[in-house]
Amino acid sequence: MVEIGALSVGIKLGILGLGTVGTGTVEVLLDGAGRHPLLSEVEIYRVGVRTLDKPRQVQLPDRLVTNDLEAIVTDPQVDIIVELIGGVEPARSLILQAIQCGKHIVTANKAVISRFWDEIFTAANKAGVYVMLEAAVGGGIPVIRPLKQSLNVNRIKTVIGIVNGTTNYILTRMQREGSNFDEVLADAQSLGYAEADPTADVDGLDAADKIAILASLAFDGRIKLEDVYCEGIRQVSKTDIAYAEKLGFVIKLLAIAKQDNDTSLSVRVHPTLVPREHPLANINGVYNAILVEGEPIGQVMFFGAGAGAGATASAVSSDILNLVAELKISPQNPNPLLTCRFHSFSKIAPIEELFTRFYARFLTRDQPGVIGKLGTCFGEYDVSLESVVQTGFQGELAEIVVVTHNVREGDFRQALSQIESLDAIDSIPSLFRVL
Ligand code: NAP
Repeated sequence: MVEIGALSVGIKLGILGLGTVGTGTVEVLLDGAGRHPLLSEVEIYRVGVRTLDKPRQVQLPDRLVTNDLEAIVTDPQVDIIVELIGGVEPARSLILQAIQCGKHIVTANKAVISRFWDEIFTAANKAGVYVMLEAAVGGGIPVIRPLKQSLNVNRIKTVIGIVNGTTNYILTRMQREGSNFDEVLADAQSLGYAEADPTADVDGLDAADKIAILASLAFDGRIKLEDVYCEGIRQVSKTDIAYAEKLGFVIKLLAIAKQDNDTSLSVRVHPTLVPREHPLANINGVYNAILVEGEPIGQVMFFGAGAGAGATASAVSSDILNLVAELKISPQNPNPLLTCRFHSFSKIAPIEELFTRFYARFLTRDQPGVIGKLGTCFGEYDVSLESVVQTGFQGELAEIVVVTHNVREGDFRQALSQIESLDAIDSIPSLFRVL
């Protein structure tokens, strides 16, 4: 239990939300010992919640806490709005209103930023205020600031992340225990690692929000969320995990932004076979990691806790401190390394144009020459095969696993639709891209 003492005066914060992250942030701000001395210049001025009489882990004077969030964002005394309520509305409207009132923003809200980047940053640039979002991707992992500052001379080629802890936890357990998705999901829900409605996590939507943000920063263009290709992990089975392992891979939900040439940027989320020796293959449990590849730096990887009160509060509080420092040094001249400097949208290549390797598993009737027929169909569409393995039987059906070389996705899909029409093919239960 943390009690607020004598409030210092300085930069005034209006904090919206006193849930997991809001509480963690208030705890950090109120416990300055051993932290940066600039913290003493931050004043928790107002805090907005939905339910006033809810028991709280932090005790704040009643006069600070309100359920009138609009009154906070329009209060002329407030310098910085820290938006930690989550969801799209009223978060978006409150952020925009605060910007119009000349307030700087710190937010952990990937849903709002990924959907309304254009609207929010256009308004912020016009109003001359900062929007800081370190906590919106990777929880406590510093990745936004490195992309904006430490790596900003690099030509970024690729950003690949494990950015959703829930799905990484589920896939890690499926792999370790040989369990199926539904069993592990139910257990993860009972342990609090997955939401009662797991859609945003397991269908890849949360990861899509995050890679849209990372791609915007890495490739200097706003991203339309609807251009981000997205597949979740529901179709990952224990059978595929076992085959992947035999072939030297682990299956991870990857969020990928990749510049293939000067014009073609792909931004996507999908389960992926990752070679066992790849640095992302060993990121397990709820941990997140983001691998950035640029010229001249080469590869650099950020790893850590992607969620949780303390980790996320670390990112939120450091954004607050960075703003305080900026406002002290040069309140009138925005730091160009912190503002959003690009205004146009990036052109995203359609998924059919992607060049990648594929893993596909076929269930076939046990007829002679099936493998030859598969090879012929693939050959007709320029899909060359790296390996074809008849792995065993499921009842009467033979199981064949194919791994391709790098192929154009559109060609691979056409070959598959021809293969599906073959008499010898019962079904194609799974299909994954290979890193
Ligand atoms: P949370 O625990 O659900 O807390 C939300 C807080 O916002 C609560 O205090 C709630 O008030 C308040 N609130 C929500 N809607 C409101 C409304 N319409 N009017 C007034 N108050 C409202 O959420 P959280 O986990 O802290 O997440 C906050 C943000 O951080 C989200 O954008 C999330 O995506 C992001 N984030 C979270 C984590 C994490 O580990 N939790 C990690 C990274 C990023 P009451 O307390 O009165 O209900």
